[in-house]
Amino acid sequence: MTKREMLTSILDKRDLHPLFQPVMDLQHGHLIGYEGLVRGPSDSELHLPQALFRTAERANMLVPLESLCIDVVVTEFLRMESPGKLFVNISPFALLAGALTDNLLKKLLDKKADLRDRLIFEITESSPKMNNAAVVSGLITLREQGFKIALDDLGEGFSSLRLWSDVRPDFVKLDKHFVAGIDKSPLKLQFVRSIKQIAEKSRAIIIAEGIEHRAELMVLREMGICLGQGYFIGYPLKRPETSVSGAAQKCFDANLVSANPWTKVVLQRGRRAHLLLTEVPTVTVTTTSEAALQILLANPEQTVLPVLEGEIPVGLLSRTLVDKFSHGYIRDLYSRKPCTVFMDSNPLIVDMEMSIVELSQLVLMQGQKRFADGFILVRDKIYAGVGSNFALMQEMTKQQIQEARYANPLTLLPGNVPINEQIELLLENEQTFWVCYVDLDSFKPFNDVFGYRRGDELIKLTAEVLLRHVDSDIDFVGHIGGDDFFVLFQSENWESRCMEILAAFDRAMSDFALQEELGVGYYCAEDRRGNRMEYGFPTLSIGIVPVTRNQFQEVHEIAIVAAEVKKEAKKTQGSSLYVDRRSYAGAATSALVAA
Ligand code: C2E
Ligand code: MG
Ligand code: MG
Repeated sequence: MTKREMLTSILDKRDLHPLFQPVMDLQHGHLIGYEGLVRGPSDSELHLPQALFRTAERANMLVPLESLCIDVVVTEFLRMESPGKLFVNISPFALLAGALTDNLLKKLLDKKADLRDRLIFEITESSPKMNNAAVVSGLITLREQGFKIALDDLGEGFSSLRLWSDVRPDFVKLDKHFVAGIDKSPLKLQFVRSIKQIAEKSRAIIIAEGIEHRAELMVLREMGICLGQGYFIGYPLKRPETSVSGAAQKCFDANLVSANPWTKVVLQRGRRAHLLLTEVPTVTVTTTSEAALQILLANPEQTVLPVLEGEIPVGLLSRTLVDKFSHGYIRDLYSRKPCTVFMDSNPLIVDMEMSIVELSQLVLMQGQKRFADGFILVRDKIYAGVGSNFALMQEMTKQQIQEARYANPLTLLPGNVPINEQIELLLENEQTFWVCYVDLDSFKPFNDVFGYRRGDELIKLTAEVLLRHVDSDIDFVGHIGGDDFFVLFQSENWESRCMEILAAFDRAMSDFALQEELGVGYYCAEDRRGNRMEYGFPTLSIGIVPVTRNQFQEVHEIAIVAAEVKKEAKKTQGSSLYVDRRSYAGAATSALVAA
């Protein structure tokens, strides 16, 4: 049988099988509905949608196939009595060629009265050969009939941005390319943030597609992306789950905070635009051009002049007004006209609370032409002042220098400030977590005898051992300085991870002893009073404070207890772990776990 014949037989027998993939509300943790995805007969070459649709296209049978897909998907969805929304796919070609006939829609709507509010049509971008205006008007007609529209696979091709601005879809589905590894790629993160800004302006809801890993889900959620879909949340299935996957649920219930240090830099946290605020004289929409000119002449340092209507900024006059008025005839012609004639009526207006990083992205998107004008700052839409891009660049540089300074130069791990910030974040989230104070024993004599270089190597080795044994998505490793480290665990198996850390450290030390041919296991050095002493090789002490909800209010309270438990751990010879059990209900004593 040729593929064409197979397709004809599929259409005759309605031999199509819908799968449903859950769509999750990333902010609240529940399902909001499903996307219907179609499969051909399981044993056939036309099982996968790509093969099915390619054959239909070649055989000129796309329209009947897509009509049948929609029919089969919606009918099955209603038969299962699934709750929530249903996203169905339709290609622009099929839409224009009339796959959604009135008959089909009527038949489906007759089955369930509220279907109209629950059905969303996902449209992929049109091919360059298609008539874009016709696609736009087709979609608008669909919207007028009360259906919602989603733009599918945004970012996959080139024309989807255009379709976005023309159609103003209710949902925009971000292609999985931008989701895959977003936790590891600052560039993807920036891209998604920009998309989110456009979505906010156009009131579209973003659905992130292809979430396969926990770290991706966490970053997207922290960024404020509303909806998500992907294997990590739920596979496309014949009978889909009615809740999100256990793993996704767990990530949500545990309210995990991402431990990835740079996502914090790129995300909203950090320094905000109000740092750039400058107060300058302003004018109103009724001020004459001549009066505006006089203000600029009287203030030679001022590069822009904001124009207000009441307290709301409506435009920006630039210093070029002075040049323009140097031509006498222009001055004669316009001096009594309102200054609004010369203003840029679409300046960059940003809220004082916007992060510096976000603002810099917006400025870049504005392009070079507007760079000199800077931006207007508002507080709840009310004018507050102006900011210059020069000041913005200074602030960005300062921030970068500070970040470099916050990192420990030897291990490049985050230092005190970011450690405290992460603890604050975990406290704010009312998270259960485990603070580990990690300290080397007998580091000083080791450093004295084997030299600073060896000492540095040992510190780096400790950092590597710690990093290797944490879950980098959710556990945070910081370096306070010297031989002191902090690990903030959200992993529930923190205890076994700590035991592995101790064992790995001891192994590394005995390798070192072998290399130095110090198999005896000790070496001699002078103590603080100058007496010759025998020292064992450095070992690791870990003091642990479990932090449960509402137990601590401030970072420094935790730091005090952490220092105490570290001291306790150090009392035991060899690598050891000491857990503060005071916080556990019922257990009055602290426990010691020797490695
Ligand atoms: P799509 O609409 O963008 O659907 C998402 C695709 O991504 C689906 O592939 C889905 O199974 C897959 N997917 C979901 N989560 C993940 C994930 O975490 N990782 C990865 N790598 N993939 C994931 P599928 O089912 O093979 O469908 C492929 C395409 O075929 C769809 O892309 C859609 O454009 C088209 N298609 C499927 N069913 C229909 C239909 O009924 N009508 C029309 N017109 N097109 C359909
Ligand atoms: Mg789709
Ligand atoms: Mg898609």
